[in-house]
Amino acid sequence: KLSNRLAAVAKMVDDRARVADIGSDHAYLPANLILNGHIDFAVAGEVAKGPLANAESEIARHALQGKIIPRLADGLAAIEPADNIDTVTIAGMGGILISQILAAGARFPKLILQPNTDEATVRQWLEDNDYHIVAEDIIAEGNHVYELIRAEAGAAKLTEQEKTFGPMLMRANSPVWRAKWESELARKEKVIGFLEAATPVHEDRVAETQTEIAKIKEVLA
Ligand code: SAM
Repeated sequence: KLSNRLAAVAKMVDDRARVADIGSDHAYLPANLILNGHIDFAVAGEVAKGPLANAESEIARHALQGKIIPRLADGLAAIEPADNIDTVTIAGMGGILISQILAAGARFPKLILQPNTDEATVRQWLEDNDYHIVAEDIIAEGNHVYELIRAEAGAAKLTEQEKTFGPMLMRANSPVWRAKWESELARKEKVIGFLEAATPVHEDRVAETQTEIAKIKEVLA
């Protein structure tokens, strides 16, 4: 059974998609998609040998050889033209690494991304590279909140607010999303307290943090 996080990624994959899961580690996501009859073919890309071995043993355990192709490669280099990949999934990495992986490779029509951090960097990359966001999700698991972004080829402009808070997430205004930004707000208010108590007071950092606080309050209002 998939974690809530990977289950949310799986839900964003179209039926019969041809998927490349980059940074697949155990290949749990493609294995689940195939075992559930959702898709027929996937590439599991890994840059590191240990995680690739994890993928290989998961593939063997479920007799999915030929349906999931494990490949040792950096990022999108795991994908070959004959794979006919239409959907790239990249989950469980920082948003900066995800953006670097996307920037270094070919274009694919559908991207399903689950950055652990720096979601705004990912949205900026998508805008700069003529992808538009068609769906977002946010889920809590353990002590962490994860954002998911599904994007497709085709340009769209995002506001600064949409890049930070998620164009679909801010409109959906879900309890998990509100809780994330309420806790971020509380954290920044604490920071202001520390900054103001320090000598000398760093006025520029106070002002910067106050601006960030105002932006969070505005989107939560
Ligand atoms: N995608 C799985 C998930 O969400 O549970 C595994 C995430 S795991 C934390 C991140 C994996 O990405 C690691 O196994 C790492 O080796 C792999 N990775 C990091 N950089 C990569 C790159 N440039 N190309 C392919 N895989 C990469």
